[in-house]
Amino acid sequence: MSKTVAIITENFGQYDPGSIHSYLSIGGFSAVKKALTMSSAEIIEMTKKAAVKGRGGAAYDTGRKWAQAASVPGEDKVVICNADEGEPCTFKDRSILSKDPFRLIEGMIIAGYTVGAKNGYIYLREEYRHLRPLIRNAIDESLSNGFLGDNILNTGFSFQIHLYSGAGAYVCGEGSTLIESIEGKSGRPRIKPPFIKECGLFQLPTLVNNVETLAIAAAFIQHGVEEYLSHGTSGSPGTKIISLAGNIKNPGAYEIPFGLTLREIIYDIGGGIPDGHELKLFQLGGASGKIGPASIVDTPYTYEDLAKEGLVVGSGGILVVDDRTRVIDFVKSIQDFFIHESCGKCTPCREGNRQIAKIIDRFVEGSQRPDDLQTAERFANIMSNCAFCGLGETAQSTLLSAIKHFPQEFGLTEVAENEKH
Ligand code: SF4
Repeated sequence: MSKTVAIITENFGQYDPGSIHSYLSIGGFSAVKKALTMSSAEIIEMTKKAAVKGRGGAAYDTGRKWAQAASVPGEDKVVICNADEGEPCTFKDRSILSKDPFRLIEGMIIAGYTVGAKNGYIYLREEYRHLRPLIRNAIDESLSNGFLGDNILNTGFSFQIHLYSGAGAYVCGEGSTLIESIEGKSGRPRIKPPFIKECGLFQLPTLVNNVETLAIAAAFIQHGVEEYLSHGTSGSPGTKIISLAGNIKNPGAYEIPFGLTLREIIYDIGGGIPDGHELKLFQLGGASGKIGPASIVDTPYTYEDLAKEGLVVGSGGILVVDDRTRVIDFVKSIQDFFIHESCGKCTPCREGNRQIAKIIDRFVEGSQRPDDLQTAERFANIMSNCAFCGLGETAQSTLLSAIKHFPQEFGLTEVAENEKH
């Protein structure tokens, strides 16, 4: 029996994503039609009941976020769809953008109506430029069919959607950085406060939601929250699209109910490890996520069970690594990524990443010094506490979790022996 479900992904393969008429033929835009008969308060109540945590990685409660955005005073507000899916090995938003762009448009319209916004912006990662024509067409066809623009469906609600592309910087996935980028500035995070919910894009109150979050909203408005809540666990209700990648037979984006174990995800859905190799570790939530060893592969994939193991759902990425990989080489590849992506604005991240990289290089070469690990951990803690944005705060998650779970691969015993002399 299949362990995947189809709530958020129910439209995948059911219509031609390049045609609004095809979308309408499967009941498309019924979520918008329904939402526009409801009050903002009713939609917020429904969103709170669905208990959806934001799917970009921060897991902030969506109902609460929408309630806050709706309560901010302002005639002119903005909704941004964060489609800057930059976590390595994460591609679940791409599956929605490419297979069901009209549902995303619906989610944005509903969000805009709920919080009182007039304009929506899709911020598309540069690497997804091949999807621009499809999304552009979805916006244009929605406009020409009366689902966008002035006085949508004669309800008096007006909403436009604009499409922007990033320039390839990972840090632009952070809300304020993304806003700077749309405004034509360098991709560097803003100081807070003011918070973007009050003073965001073009200094207007701004709601930023991830692609999957908006798609879920359209799904539960259309069908009601009961169907969505019939999946998952009491602590983590509903479903999630995961990106399964790495040393896995069947990589891909899959929608699963919360509560499956990582073993079920990796072996039953993903088909297990190819070529007879063994699972060594997995990394959850992209490069900023922590790694877990094979010994905890029976952990249920829920927010609360993963937290007990020090892991997070994050972006929904599940990177599988088999026994052919040295942990230190894996850590180095993540470190190289963060050196490349650090925007350089603050010293803890800019310099911390470089200093830690030097230490990791010594481990890779086998020329580490006795106090190297201690120094790396000290720098990592400084970064976690003092970096200006989430990139620097989480860049060392891989290193710290690798030291915790695979101390022998860092020569910890040899260091301890050396220290004795
Ligand atoms: S933490 Fe890194 S990415 Fe964030 S502002 Fe500082 S240097 Fe830039």
